[in-house]
Amino acid sequence: MVLGNSLSIVNATKYYKKFKAVDDVNLEVNQGEFLTILGPSGSGKTSLLKLIAGFEQLNQGAIVLNDQDISKRKPYERDIGMLFQNYALFPHMTIFDNIAYPLRLRKIPKKEVQERVEAILKLVHLEQFGSRYPEQLSGGQQQRVALARAIVFNPPLLLLDEPLGALDKQLRKKMQLEIKHIQEQIGITTVSVTHDQEEALTMSDKICVMNNGRIEQVDSPENLYKRPKNRFVAEFIGEINLIKGNVVSVDEEKAKVKVNEGFVVDIGVDSELDIKNQSMLIALRPENIQIAKEESEFHNTIKAKVIESIYVGEAFNIKTRTETGEEITAKIPANVSELPLKDKDIFLGWNCKDACLIHDETPA
Ligand code: ADP
Ligand code: MG
Repeated sequence: MVLGNSLSIVNATKYYKKFKAVDDVNLEVNQGEFLTILGPSGSGKTSLLKLIAGFEQLNQGAIVLNDQDISKRKPYERDIGMLFQNYALFPHMTIFDNIAYPLRLRKIPKKEVQERVEAILKLVHLEQFGSRYPEQLSGGQQQRVALARAIVFNPPLLLLDEPLGALDKQLRKKMQLEIKHIQEQIGITTVSVTHDQEEALTMSDKICVMNNGRIEQVDSPENLYKRPKNRFVAEFIGEINLIKGNVVSVDEEKAKVKVNEGFVVDIGVDSELDIKNQSMLIALRPENIQIAKEESEFHNTIKAKVIESIYVGEAFNIKTRTETGEEITAKIPANVSELPLKDKDIFLGWNCKDACLIHDETPA
């Protein structure tokens, strides 16, 4: 089964009366790719998905599926597979009939319906459950039935809107991987929406971060985490320290940055940026910081005082404050031999490539 199709969203803009919910969005989803739209509540994720599905109409722009502009088509003419949070299985139909429904609607011959439903039941590991009714299945199993129903008719595209939102955390994590594996197996182009950054990082080939109807960054999960382009992305995904500094010099590999306390540190850059003498933020993940008693132990270092150490299971979060009042949190493994004491001066160190620079704009 090959279901690859590519999707382009071109200058998409959507107003609800005067309110701009989707603001000039451009986005490419490659054939077979799993793309997640990630953003806070109200950022326009569902609106964008509805535009793709055809439940809302664009004010400007186009939705292009497989090189065809589908913007003017009715939802049923787009033939897209969908799985939303309040997916409703038909309670009076067996699992088999639930999954067969979209095929029968499309007048697929009986024999083929039988074959395709059986194949997809196998794919979602429910081959024993065809004759049961939805209420006889667990939440996770029902979810898999809903997924099977969404893809059984070989749609060119699968849309997911917070499909796991109603499940508890453990089941959600399990289902994230299952959906991901099924998606990979059939290679269906998928656009998923979530406000849960962990879910986005786990499932996606590519993540599109949205804020106020606009795209902030589109990137692989790893790049997004390691190289956030701006303050919004940096703060939305994971925990991060943003340390103020002034760029002293730049070459194509690193920038020398002077932080408030007078320390000069090297920060990795991807190219020779035009940022000399600019005030920037050093974005540094807590888990990339090491702690030492002596300054000389690190290439990059800042002096700080320990405010408190918080045990979080696998690690300690060490909250510190520099002499100029900046707070920096370091995450160190819980099995370290010696925990720094409160009110003690320590040195925080990190590798040049483990931090990046972002512009020091005030968040909206
Ligand atoms: P998200 O899915 O990211 O939470 P939505 O796309 O649902 O965001 O909503 C984006 C913004 O558009 C929100 O401010 C919401 O209140 C508004 N909105 C969504 N749907 C409608 C509608 N049908 N009419 C008016 N405003 C809407
Ligand atoms: Mg939504």
